[in-house]
Amino acid sequence: MLSGRQIEAGGRPLRRLLAEAAEFLLPQHCLVCGRFGAALHDRCLARLPAAEPPRCLRCWRPGAGTWCERCAAGGPDAPAFDGLRAPFEFEGAARRAIIEAKFRGVTALLPPLARAAAMTVPEEWDVGLVVPVPLAPRRRRLRGYNQAELAAREIARALGLPIELKWLRRVRETPPQAGLTAAARSTNLREAFAAVPQPSARNVLVVDDVTTTGATFEAVARALRSAGVHRVYAVALARED
Ligand SMILES: [Zn+2]
Ligand SMILES: [Zn+2]
Repeated sequence: MLSGRQIEAGGRPLRRLLAEAAEFLLPQHCLVCGRFGAALHDRCLARLPAAEPPRCLRCWRPGAGTWCERCAAGGPDAPAFDGLRAPFEFEGAARRAIIEAKFRGVTALLPPLARAAAMTVPEEWDVGLVVPVPLAPRRRRLRGYNQAELAAREIARALGLPIELKWLRRVRETPPQAGLTAAARSTNLREAFAAVPQPSARNVLVVDDVTTTGATFEAVARALRSAGVHRVYAVALARED
């Protein structure tokens, strides 16, 4: 079987074209129940592996029902974002759905996952704006879309919030994070993002497809903070524990 990276690196654009044609021509069948009618039925979302509490109420790491040790300690070692949520664990059907959406062009899987993600956003975060984690321009061109942006659009719609696509840019293309240690992930992303200075006082909700160590959200949060954003919250479709 081809890995996502191989598909991304080669096979474009013919593979992408075929995937789009198939999505258009064939009746969709649900990734979970196999029945026709949708890429993923809303009722079938309940069968995906949920990221169940108890989890750290700030970084969503499993274990603590309050804040984990790192978040409670605060200071420079605490996460750069103010909160993180994800509705699913990155395994089983949730993992399959995200990989299909990201590498095989089955973008119809994103809206139901994104609606579930929107429901995990606590009201007290009081977010006023949604910002997707950007892809490097070259990768965006190759793939033809940014899965985080498609998810962010749906989350913004579900929460009744505006989406902002111009503030945040990926200024450095970084090697894929998969297979790197937590420390290497963080180094890999150093200064990967830049944000336009923001006078706005609104809290920002950053959206990505998957989070593992939270390193991407932290790099984005640092960029947004240095641009003047006060509070940065994060939501992913799934969390790899
Ligand atoms: Zn179904
Ligand atoms: Zn924590």
